[in-house]
Parts: sequence; structure tokens; C-alpha cells
Amino acid sequence: MRVVMLGAPGSGKGTQAKQLVQAYGAPQLSTGDLLRAAVKAASPIGLRAKAAMDAGKLVSDDIVLGLIEERLGGPDGLHEFILDGFPRNLAQAEALETLLGRLSLSLQAAILIDVSAEELKRRIAGRRTCRDCGAIYNVYTAPSAREGVCDACGGETYQRSDDNESTVAQRLATYAAETAPLVEFYRAAGKLHTVDGEQPVDTIFVELRKIAKVLS
Ligand code: AMP
Repeated sequence: MRVVMLGAPGSGKGTQAKQLVQAYGAPQLSTGDLLRAAVKAASPIGLRAKAAMDAGKLVSDDIVLGLIEERLGGPDGLHEFILDGFPRNLAQAEALETLLGRLSLSLQAAILIDVSAEELKRRIAGRRTCRDCGAIYNVYTAPSAREGVCDACGGETYQRSDDNESTVAQRLATYAAETAPLVEFYRAAGKLHTVDGEQPVDTIFVELRKIAKVLS
């Protein structure tokens, strides 16, 4: 499976990507997760990326493309993937096409998880993430059994520093300005599939399975 998950912050694309990984075995590649790990490790990439991330803006294309090329290019590169949070603008989408062309691979689908702006704000404010295993909860819609404790591994759940109200507004504005145009890009390429992201998580996944079935 070679797919891109498209959707605004809080659309649930990361949650659905994890389910696809379990069902189909293709690895999830989340540039947000890779960047957060780099920030945590205080690596040179992390130090360069942190300010943009804290401000809800996009990290520069050269950093993100470097992370993707490292994983897809080269002799041990992934031939299957579920891209989550990448591409985030047209330049990245075009760079992905070029990279895949060089590897004689093609993207099978871009799957848009469609959620209204109002619902996104509510979801992001309630989101909690496990520090240890990355499991995602929501205090309004999908809380962990014990507040602050991950159901899956017992780790501590926390609110991401960029999930606060002012950064959320900026992230949604960044999405509208830079990432939303990708919907047309992939529609024009005949690769776009849209799923109503306000349905229950399991219903969304049933739709994703249907899409996965027809991928060639
Ligand atoms: P996410 O976890 O996907 O919401 O990403 C968190 C933050 O990491 C974003 O707000 C951006 O600052 C940065 N980021 C993640 N993916 C990308 C990307 N493909 N291009 C640029 N910045 C990114």
C-alpha cells in the first residue's frame, strides 16, 4: 500500500493511519512524529524545526524532504507506506512525485478525512497523547479509562505543546492556506478519495477498507 493521508490537524488521519498499519502492515510515516522525536532528542534537525512547530507554522521543506528521502530512498527504502502529515504543500507533493518516479513507484491514493473547522477546534483542544507509545485519546470523545494514564501501555498522557488554542488557530490557518490546495492536486491526478471524518472512528475505517480494496 502506498497512500497519503490528507486532512487538517485533528481530523483523525493519524488514528486511521495507525489502523491501516495494523490491518495492512504498511508502515506509517508521520513527519510530525519524526519532527517531535528530533525535538525531544535536541538533534540539529530538532533545533531547527522547534520554533516553526511551536508557532503552528510549517517546518522548511528541505528538513522535511530530507526526513522522507532518508526513509524512502536508498537500497533499503520503504516500498510501501502510509504517509501521515506529508506532503503539506504543493512543493512537497511535487517532490514526492519526483522521488517516487526515481524509485519507479507510484502513489496509489490520497485519502482525505474531511472534518468541519468547528469540530476540528473542539477535537484538538481535547486531544491527549501518550508519551510512551503515542496512543491518542480525546477527553471529550474518546477518553482513557483513567485520566492521564494510557489504556494501552500505562504511560502518561499529555497535551501536546502545539495543541493549545492560539497555536491551533495558526495550524488551521496554515492548513487552509498551504495544505488544502493538495485536495485539488490529487483530484486532478485521479487519486483523491474523500471520507466523512465526522462519522464514528470504526465507520471511517470501514470506508478506508473499501478504498484499500480497489487500490491497484
Ligand atoms: P502534525 O503532528 O502532523 O500535526 O505536525 C506537527 C507540526 O510539525 C506541524 O504543525 C508542523 O510545524 C510540523 N510538520 C509536520 N509535518 C510537516 C510537513 N510535511 N511539512 C512542514 N512541517 C511539518
